[in-house]
This record gives sequence, structure tokens and C-alpha cells, in this order.
Amino acid sequence: MHLTDSDLVRGRTQVGDFEVTVCTDGAYKLDGGAMFGVVPKTLWEKRAAADAQNRILLGLNTVVVRTGKHTVVIETGIGNKQPAKMRAIFENQELLPASLAAAGIAVEEVDIVVNTHLHFDHCGWNTTLQPDGSVTPTFPNARYFAHRGEVEHGHLQLERDGVSYLSPNYDPLIESGQMTLVEGHEMAICPGVRVEVFPGHTAQMMGVHIESGREHACYISDLIPTSAHLDTTWVMGYDLDPLETIVQRKRFYQRAIPEKWLVLFTHDHRTPMARIGLNEKGKPVVVGPE
Ligand SMILES: [Zn+2]
Repeated sequence: MHLTDSDLVRGRTQVGDFEVTVCTDGAYKLDGGAMFGVVPKTLWEKRAAADAQNRILLGLNTVVVRTGKHTVVIETGIGNKQPAKMRAIFENQELLPASLAAAGIAVEEVDIVVNTHLHFDHCGWNTTLQPDGSVTPTFPNARYFAHRGEVEHGHLQLERDGVSYLSPNYDPLIESGQMTLVEGHEMAICPGVRVEVFPGHTAQMMGVHIESGREHACYISDLIPTSAHLDTTWVMGYDLDPLETIVQRKRFYQRAIPEKWLVLFTHDHRTPMARIGLNEKGKPVVVGPE
């Protein structure tokens, strides 16, 4: 499908028997230098144009998987709890409810929500700020999943990244019993959907495997945030352990490339999904749209 930047549904495809839809909380802007770490701007700006404030356009992709038995939402964007000051910085658009509606997905039908990690731009619509100031679950009938290590890390409120963890996105769900905390390296969420830890961006960031028939898709989250980050060393400044990100990207490519996985990108507004291959120099590149 041909996308314009304002399209509310960013993609839809079939993975075996599963319908996979990419919805969006809208585009937002982050500093290009932070997004590309030690990579010089002269190199990254060829792939991602910067505005006058050095910010690049990013997406907030929510993937919805309908397996026939379950409706699984992966990631919930920034949400509507940001103070006005933060909204002005990120220029985020709070579009996820409209995007789900445009895709024909009712919040009531969603029975599983997965957060790959708990940074504010990945779990914001877990809960909705109501006009009376209360915070309620956006998906009333869903069981939510996040990694226990992420919750514990967020609660530490460390100098380096405490600002990225906003407890109203998850604490109310833990207190009400609506959120299950993932332990260890891997966990099956429902038939055909499973999470696996890919450390580096955070210590317990998870990718989400979607498998049906002979097809395999993977929402790789901030291990590879956009299709401009496929080079193994083009690592974000935000990553807590950039050397581990490089190790984990190589581990990911070892299967994703030969097995022709459909790769779903968390922050790529214009290329939300792609197949990956190696170019003549042996570097990972996008080889096909789907
Ligand atoms: Zn993150």
C-alpha cells in the first residue's frame, strides 16, 4: 500500500492465518543526534532529514494481530497523559484511538496488550487520562504483559532514564491485577505470539514473534527502531548498553534474514514493515516492502 504521512492506518498484511495491522499514535519528533548515537550527522541526515531544531520525524507504531481467537495489541504509543510542555517538545498527536477506529478495531475486542518495554513512548495508551483526572485502562477487556525487570527498573527512577518511565502507564494495571509480569528470557503470550528478550536498549526489552503457518514476523522494537538503523553499529544514544545492542542485532539477523521474517519497526513512520537482506557489501538493507 502507498502511504501518505497523514494516513491513520500504516499497513496491513497477512502472516499465515493472522491479520497484522500497523496502527499509529501519530508521528513525533526526536533529536536526530540522540537517535543515531555516535554516527556523524553528515551520514545519518542522508537517511533522515533534520528540521531547524535538529529533530527527525518518527512514528509510533502499534501492531494489532488478529489470530482468529485473540486480538493482540503490541505497543500503545505516547498516549494522552503528557503535560503540555512535553507535547510541545515532541509534537505528538495522540492518534491511536482514531487509528484503531480507522482500522476497524474496537478497544473492547482487544484481549491482549504487550509492551516491549515501558518507556513513555511505548505504553502511553495502556491507560487513558479522563476529563475528571482519573486514569482508566484503555483496553478494558485485555490482559497486559510487560517484563518484570522493566517495571523494577522504572521504579528505581534513575538519573539516566527515570524521566522515560511514567508509572501511571503501568502501576494502576499492576495494582488491579490486569497486568502480567513476564519473567526470564522468553514467554508464550497466546498460540502464535511469543515474546523474547533482546537486551541493549534496556536490559529486558522484548521483541514479539508472530508465527502462523510457515510465516514469521517480528516486532523488534527499539533493537532496530527504524529502517535507517539496520547497520549493526548505527545504535541510538538512548541505548543503555550499545555494545549489547550490536551483539543482539547480529543475533537477530542470523535468523531474520535467511528465514525471510517480516520485520515490524516501532518508530519508522514511512516504512513500518519490511523484509531484510544483505547488500553487496554484506550490510543489512531493506529488500522488499512485505
Ligand atoms: Zn525505548
